[in-house]
Amino acid sequence: MEQRLIYLDNAATGFPKPQKVIEEMQEFMMYSGGNAGRGSHVLAMRAAEKVFECRNKLAQLFDAEGVEQVCFTLNTTHGLNMCIKGLLKRGDHVLISDMEHNAVYRPIYKLHAQGVVDYDIFPSMVGDSKRNATRICEGIAKLVRRNTRMLVCSGTSNISSMTMPLAEIGRLCRRLGILFVVDGAQCAGHTPISMKNMHIDALCVPGHKGLLGPQGCGAVILGKGITAQTLMEGGNGVDSLEGAMSYGSPERYEAGTLPAPAIVGLSAGLDTLSSIGLDKIEAHEKRLFRRARERLTLLEGVKIYTPQYEGSVLLFNVAGRGAEETARTLSDKGICVRGGYHCSALGHRTLGTADTGAVRASFGPFNSSKDVDAFCDAVGEMI
Ligand code: PMP
Repeated sequence: MEQRLIYLDNAATGFPKPQKVIEEMQEFMMYSGGNAGRGSHVLAMRAAEKVFECRNKLAQLFDAEGVEQVCFTLNTTHGLNMCIKGLLKRGDHVLISDMEHNAVYRPIYKLHAQGVVDYDIFPSMVGDSKRNATRICEGIAKLVRRNTRMLVCSGTSNISSMTMPLAEIGRLCRRLGILFVVDGAQCAGHTPISMKNMHIDALCVPGHKGLLGPQGCGAVILGKGITAQTLMEGGNGVDSLEGAMSYGSPERYEAGTLPAPAIVGLSAGLDTLSSIGLDKIEAHEKRLFRRARERLTLLEGVKIYTPQYEGSVLLFNVAGRGAEETARTLSDKGICVRGGYHCSALGHRTLGTADTGAVRASFGPFNSSKDVDAFCDAVGEMI
């Protein structure tokens, strides 16, 4: 990266990528670049092995039922569409939180507009951090109907560091017989997730954020016994004489050529993640968050939203300046943050930033406290 740039937009995509990711992708494209699952010559087999390795690492990381439950997608949005449209049926009722990203909200909004499903929104910020889990579950229970089939929520919001009590929500959903789908875009690689312990029926993750891989692939990890309708049909290298995509997971959901170079990069990203340690990354990002919060709190005219939730995302505004203007001014000073709206119609309404938008600084494992200081100095200079 250019020396003078400080990247604090890791919630949009992780940057920089680890050197190992770049090297492994290059090596793959030079020496192993066959089409995984298409043919049995040496280069196709090498590609298939690499894809399997990555599946296996994802299954381990998220405590999945088995490696075959890991289905590659293009990104988180693709995975969420696959689960929402593939698991819901006409007449179903769905619950989502008031902080959902448009990747959850829009597919459900569309199904609702078409008269296919009905939905309700449950509140997420309903108490202090200790009582939040109980209160959130109480709010959910009040909205459950006879035909409630699914609950979808993000593990961590993209405009607040609020993390959902996944274990408690999962337990409630299991007890009530409701499918529990988790948008892992902002929590995968930031905080531990166990599909088994949290009773998650489908977890959608991006490769390009906390898992330290490149853009171009993500995954849906399905729970035991979950079978969805396919979102796309086409060749997958199995049952090639049949018209129906009747095969099981993962091939059933992987029509067309897989983005093997991106999957190899993700595999290397997962290695980097485990060599640093998820607990260290989580603690590091919280430290950076606290440092930024402490310094920005001292600046008159800076409003921080939901400062009580510590994590990798800090949302703020500077009085008298539009959010995009603030982000542009910081960019002129070499600080990359995102301003405006963050693809979260519901979240902005919940936080009261639907009229103004807001500025988001999001930290990653490769940021340092010096980056945070430079960012806070730059905000201070603006004021
Ligand atoms: N959900 C959340 C909470 C997100 O932050 C994002 C990315 N901004 C997405 C879903 C969509 O992720 P992707 O870009 O990988 O499709």
